[in-house]
Amino acid sequence: PALPPFQNEPPVDFTRPEARAAMSEALRVVRDQFGRFYPLVLNGREVATGVEFTSTDPGASETIVGRFAQARPLDARDAISIARERFGAWSATPAVDRASVLLKAASLMRAKRSTLSAWEVYECGKPWREADGDVAEAIDFCEFYAREMIRLAEGRHRDVPGETNAIERIARGVAAVIPPWNFPLAIPTGMTVAALVAGNTVVLKPSERSPRIALLLAEVLREAGLPEGVLTVLPGFGDVGKALVDDPRVNLIAFTGSRDVGLEINRKAAEPAPGQDHVKRVIAEMGGKNAIIVDDDSDLDEAVVGVLQSAFGYAGQKCSACSRVIVLDGIYDAFVGRLVDAARALPVGPADNPDTAVGPVIDAKARERIEGYKTIAEGEGDVVLSVDVGSLAARGNYVGPLIVAGVRPDARIAQEEVFGPVLAVLRACNLDEALRIANGTVYALTGGLYSRSPANIDHVKREFRVGNLYVNRPITGALVDRQPFGGFQLSGIGTKAGGTDYLLEFLLTRTITENT
Ligand code: NAP
Repeated sequence: PALPPFQNEPPVDFTRPEARAAMSEALRVVRDQFGRFYPLVLNGREVATGVEFTSTDPGASETIVGRFAQARPLDARDAISIARERFGAWSATPAVDRASVLLKAASLMRAKRSTLSAWEVYECGKPWREADGDVAEAIDFCEFYAREMIRLAEGRHRDVPGETNAIERIARGVAAVIPPWNFPLAIPTGMTVAALVAGNTVVLKPSERSPRIALLLAEVLREAGLPEGVLTVLPGFGDVGKALVDDPRVNLIAFTGSRDVGLEINRKAAEPAPGQDHVKRVIAEMGGKNAIIVDDDSDLDEAVVGVLQSAFGYAGQKCSACSRVIVLDGIYDAFVGRLVDAARALPVGPADNPDTAVGPVIDAKARERIEGYKTIAEGEGDVVLSVDVGSLAARGNYVGPLIVAGVRPDARIAQEEVFGPVLAVLRACNLDEALRIANGTVYALTGGLYSRSPANIDHVKREFRVGNLYVNRPITGALVDRQPFGGFQLSGIGTKAGGTDYLLEFLLTRTITENT
């Protein structure tokens, strides 16, 4: 029977007492499992690697969330051998059967929704709503790519008298999936299930900061019927990622993360190793330095809320986050005053507290980097807000929101991705100047505009070169299918996760012509 049309998974409504109670209970259940050891599993068998590493709660540095056998480069090579072995059978499995694994995985994730969110709260410091949104997006990826593969598997037929032409899609081979930690379920799920449903076998190297959540994804897929060895998860560090990227037997690399690593992967993948018989396909989604333009006729109430949510949601640790706000001269002072007052009121605290708006940042290294930018900001503008986190500093990796005004477009704070709760405010004398500033970085991921003028909205729609442009709303929170996501320039190669073109990246196209 035909599947019902795709629909986005609605967010959990935490104003409902039952939803709050379910989440509190899930947090308790997860806390009870803190500190457990997770072995490395290759082809259904535990492998002793001799080394382990831990994942800790970013908001309570002493708390060990889990202990993991650390995969080594040699384990990466073994995982690739297994993936190669499994490729024949998995790629020959009918697309509709592969798609049904994804649909089953989606329903299992729905059933485990609060538990999955609770792990995100503790392993990645995601406040409740953000964690729930990430799980909802993972469900959406499964539902959407399942339907997409069924559509693509129909192929295309272009017959003329005496000749049939079939255009069909086939899997590429072994896919290495290398995600970041900031959407710890959605991004690994999206890249992994896209590769799998297309018929590829996968070796997934999650970020060292979110290994538990990646193992939960593997559990869900196994429970959903994915055969052993078709997916291997390798908890470990960048050296494992490197081993995957360098291996001549990998056909496809799906990476999401920082610009420098993305560029390095792209460069290495371009060079065939001795004996390699193919060009590696690279999908690389990278960073951003996203701007919102605030026009002088905009609704300031909406603009203030939208900028705050975009800049400080998940402590600014989203590739889509707003890190520059470009304000037209006429409303500059009024806007900055209101922005600062509203930002000061954002509750900063642990992610497991439902009232928290700004949680911790991911680890001590991130905190140091962001604090370094605070010093840079002091030299490059007028620090109009710097929230002191007080006693939280001793508990975990907390950084208070920082707003720096009067920043010049070429300042480091206006050019470099900070990836934390730091917002630069820039002044523009007219819309053209605002657009020049907005477009004046190496990135092109997300962007936004608050305006009431139809002519200005049209102008910005034409001229603001970003992958995802949002008008009169926040610039984060893209939904699968409705807002296919991804940037260009040094933000990415131009693929759109959650869009109808995405699966084609994971497939090869064959044309078969027969004279009849
Ligand atoms: P990252 O440091 O680039 O790490 C991403 C992944 O690459 C991790 O799994 C990492 O493993 C691995 N890795 C590191 N060095 C490697 C190497 N030399 N070869 C192969 N793999 C390697 O990024 P992150 O800190 O996790 O994530 C934050 C960044 O991601 C930001 O720049 C953000 O803008 C970007 N991002 C982009 C998007 C998008 O859709 N455009 C979405 C989310 C995030 P280890 O962590 O174990 O070292």
